[in-house]
Formats: sequence, structure tokens, C-alpha cells
Amino acid sequence: MGFASLGLNQTLLDAVAEQGYNTPTPIQTEAIPAILEGLDVMAGAQTGTGKTAAFALPILQFLSAQTRDSSGKISVRALILTPTRELAQQVHASIVKYGAQTDLRAALVYGGASINTQIESLKAGVDIVVATPGRLIDLMYKRAVDLSQVEYMVFDEADRMLDMGFMDEIQRILKVLPPTRQTLLFSATFDDEIFKLSKTLLKTPKLIEVDARNTASIQVEQRVYAVDEDRKRELISYLIGSQNWQQVLIFTRTKLGADALAKEMCKDGLKTQAIHGDKSQGARDRVLEEFREGKTRVLVATDLAARGLDIEELKYVVNYELPFKAEDYIHRIGRTGRAGGSGLAISLVCEDENYLLQDVETKLETQLPQQWLPGFEPDLTREAKKAPRRNSRGAQKQRARERALGKKPTKRRR
Ligand code: AMP
Repeated sequence: MGFASLGLNQTLLDAVAEQGYNTPTPIQTEAIPAILEGLDVMAGAQTGTGKTAAFALPILQFLSAQTRDSSGKISVRALILTPTRELAQQVHASIVKYGAQTDLRAALVYGGASINTQIESLKAGVDIVVATPGRLIDLMYKRAVDLSQVEYMVFDEADRMLDMGFMDEIQRILKVLPPTRQTLLFSATFDDEIFKLSKTLLKTPKLIEVDARNTASIQVEQRVYAVDEDRKRELISYLIGSQNWQQVLIFTRTKLGADALAKEMCKDGLKTQAIHGDKSQGARDRVLEEFREGKTRVLVATDLAARGLDIEELKYVVNYELPFKAEDYIHRIGRTGRAGGSGLAISLVCEDENYLLQDVETKLETQLPQQWLPGFEPDLTREAKKAPRRNSRGAQKQRARERALGKKPTKRRR
């Protein structure tokens, strides 16, 4: 089925063709007609499924069909909230591309960049605002943005917004929005918190789930290598070098870990940079740009920094350490295999992380068999020496957390 059958007007069909999209992705096929019908939507879709176009195209269609205020005043009629600056930038860039042939104006507001420039861009009058919650609230308090005319509201990556503790900000923003509006909520994962939020936000929403709940993108091949913790770096540098992988995104749990690994990998001769929340926005943009352009071969990121990154044709994602939350595994590997491309997700799992692997397997409802790379087999004698082991799940968890915090792990009880 092509885009033409979804109810989009010719201008937007042209925009889609211009992007080289031939066939709508499953989320687009389901969400676009529902949104055009005027329904609230709650969609389970991770980044990489084409969800941005799924909400942006119908909103652009609505806005361009409506006539603006007769006084010539342009009011904000669509608000899109995202958890991170990077995602806000990407969504804004997509809206600008898809809406290039309309006269609609979109502003991008996020923290870490000059508020005055953003105030200026809003002053000129905009139809669409793409924002991260904290900065939007700053602008509301400065009376630089009027949200009283908002008709379309999107929560993008709502699960991550809650994870990042934006609930208070969301409530404050909701207070100034008109009650009659169409609301769209996109979330990679659903849990009770999301359902609770959806009840306060959405009116009899259409529930759209393109993938089974909490499943990883099917185009991604997942490989798990069992390896001793102190040989992880060597193994990954070897894989990247020997297989000639370009554009590899590696996840660590901590900012310190990301910096340290990037430094070590540079010593291995691989051009590597780290991206995380302690870097200034300018530095993050620069690092990302260099990675996109292929000037940097490896990018080491923390979960928050990598959230929503859309890098075309990213083929390799590495879990240098498994995340504490199984949903983060899904988000991480969703950076590859996007919109139909194929991808490879590698997880390096040391003995202490086995319980985290089990959590991931439970979430995915599948087993991810571990393999050993010749030359990097885990040293089993180390473990044997520790027998008899009292290696409870709790103790493993404790040690992994301590390690993540940079502490010396508690000795195992014999
Ligand atoms: P998103 O999930 O919105 O971050 O989109 C992921 C990637 O898929 C982006 O690079 C989009 O440009 C691309 N994309 C979106 N829709 C389509 C489509 N129908 N066909 C091909 N690529 C698409």
C-alpha cells in the first residue's frame, strides 16, 4: 500500500516522495489515517519505525488546511514535546523537511542553547513548537510562548520523559493547554506509569501497536559475546578493526565510563569520541556531526545522550555494558535496523551481568544464546577458584552497580 491511500494531500505526498519514501512503514499506515480522522492516538513505536512522519504529516496537513487568525497573528497550534535536545532537533528537522512546501513555521526550543535566540524565533510567530519540557516552561514563565491556542499535542518518547522525571513539567504544561485538543502519545515501551499518564492525557484513544509490546526491531541481529570484563575493550576494538566496521555506536552506563572507553579506543587506533550529558550542547552537536559525516568511526554514548539519535544507515550498536533497565536495551538496539535497514547489535556480557541478560531475555520473551570469540574466551578457572560460590542475583546486582559507580566491587561471600 502506498502513501496515496492514507489520506494525505498532494503537497505532503510530494514531500514524502522527495524524501525517497516509497512505502509507508507499519506505524505510518496505522497512525496517519487515525490522526487524520481526529482521534487521539497512543502508539507503541520506538525510534527508527518512522514514527516522526506518522505524527508530523497529518499535523502539517491539518495546519496547512486551516486559515490563520484573520488579524495575521500566527499562534502556536501544534506542540511536540520530546525528552532530549537531540530528539527535538531531529523532529524539528523532519518537520521542516516535510513542510518545506507549506508556509508553516516551526520553532525549536531546548535547554543548553541561548534562550534569547529562541525567544526571538518565537516572537516572529510560529505554528509549531518542538520543545523539551524544561526550556518550554522557562519560556512560559517569561511569557515568550503562548500555548492557549494549541490544537495538536504530541508526546514523543513518553516513556523516556517519565524516566527522566519530567512528570511535574508535563503537568505544568498541560495546565495551560486548552482542554479540547487532539493528543498523540508515542512510547517505545508501555508500563503502568505510561498507562496512568495516558488516562489523564488522552480521550478514548486509538491504541496502535505495530510491533508486539516491548519487542526489539526484527531487522536487528542480536549477538551476545561472553567475555571477561577486563577484556571487553580489546574484544570490541578487535571486532571493529578485523571486520572493518564503520560508524559503530557503543553504549556504556556512565559518563565517566564513556570518556574512559573513548580514550582507550583512540589508543587502539580507532577514531572515537564520547557523547553524554556533561558535554555542552555545542560539543554534543559537533561530536554527532562528525560521527554522521564518518569523520569519527566510533561514538561512545550513555543512554540519555543516545536517546532518539537518528543516524542514517547505522549498522552496528554495541552494548559495552548491559543497561540496568531492560527497556534501555530495546532503545539502544533500536538505533540500528531503522526503517527497514538491517543492523547488528552486539552485547559484551561478563559473568556479573548475566542477571541483566536474563532481564533482557524476559522482556524480549526470547533467548539470546551467548557465544565466545576465539581468543577472548572467559577465563573459567577464575570462577572455579571462587567456588563454592554464593553468587546470588542480589550480589551480582550489587557488584555491577558498584562497578558502574566507579567503586571497588564488594567481595563475594565465599
Ligand atoms: P523515526 O522513527 O521517525 O526516527 O524515523 C527513522 C528513519 O526512517 C528516519 O531516517 C526517516 O527519514 C526514515 N523514514 C521514515 N519513514 C520512512 C518510510 N516510509 N520509508 C523509508 N524511510 C522512512
